[in-house]
Amino acid sequence: MLVTYVRSSSYNNYDFCQMQYFLTYNLGWRGSSGKRADMGTMAHKVMEILAGLKKFQQDNPRKKWLEIVDDKCGKVRVSKDDLYTDAFVDELIARSIEEYGETSAHKFYRKERQEVTDTVYTFLTHNGGQFDPRQRNVYYPEPHFDLPIEEDWAKFDFVDANGNTQKGQLAIKGTIDLVTLVNEDTIEVVDWKSGRRLNWASGEEKTYEKMTNDPQLLLYFYAMSKMFPDFPNRIMSIFFYKDTEGEPDPTPYSFCFTKEDEDRFLGMLEKRVKEIRQNTNPSVLDPTRTDFRCKYLCHFCKNSFEGESDNMCITIEKELVQLGMEEVVKKRTAPDFNIGFYEAPG
Ligand code: SF4
Repeated sequence: MLVTYVRSSSYNNYDFCQMQYFLTYNLGWRGSSGKRADMGTMAHKVMEILAGLKKFQQDNPRKKWLEIVDDKCGKVRVSKDDLYTDAFVDELIARSIEEYGETSAHKFYRKERQEVTDTVYTFLTHNGGQFDPRQRNVYYPEPHFDLPIEEDWAKFDFVDANGNTQKGQLAIKGTIDLVTLVNEDTIEVVDWKSGRRLNWASGEEKTYEKMTNDPQLLLYFYAMSKMFPDFPNRIMSIFFYKDTEGEPDPTPYSFCFTKEDEDRFLGMLEKRVKEIRQNTNPSVLDPTRTDFRCKYLCHFCKNSFEGESDNMCITIEKELVQLGMEEVVKKRTAPDFNIGFYEAPG
């Protein structure tokens, strides 16, 4: 399989199901997001807007009115004092639910709306507002990263759809929820998690110890070290809204990774990327597709390619045997998908 980017979401997806990874990140097919994922996005949007307005206030201390333009909710304007009111938070929650609800495949009734509200207020009020962006010195609300890995093993070449050889450099991509300034030497990244504290591939609880080896967290930390090299101290805090049983359990976990962890991440990434590159026959999570994660959570189990009877997962599994990976990529890549890559320097 060709790997041009590793995203925070893709690294663990390969552990979850190699076939799902292949369909998503190599062929470019995506299902509509689940209801719970949409609710998490709604809560995140409120936090992002509050952080953006707080940053505006910090940058413009004399202005009485704060204003930002959000990519989903459009122009948001509030007075300095109203920023800190529940009425304004409620207004943002309603706006976020409305905006995402319009394009979602799901309906959001009172129960779901209440859960989005509870999630937001839990994030805002935990431990006297410790994770409320309005109580923080906001350094960067929701930065995106797209960073090349400057290692020899990260270079690759491949033949594109027009028969041309392309040379690229592996890169990592993702989004950080919030970066705050603790002091002149220290930044703290905050990542709000509306889902459960669970590893979906193994079904195991994510303990503090397991999280210190979580490639996704190390990827974030590595990105922080490249994006904010001027800060010798970088803290990463993850705030899970729910525990492994699905009940609210507002527990934050904080980590201080070091330079050794950057090297550890690069070692893990190299091993994983080489493993994916050599894989020409992605395995499936469950050959019978009766596992609940196939039946209820996977787009490729519930859907078929147009006019075909087998589901997408079974179709691709059969064609990989009959045609081989190269032909499957030519035949089955989603029409609007461009794998995208960093051009290798020199
Ligand atoms: S249906 Fe199951 S095996 Fe197939 S891609 Fe989805 S999760 Fe993987």
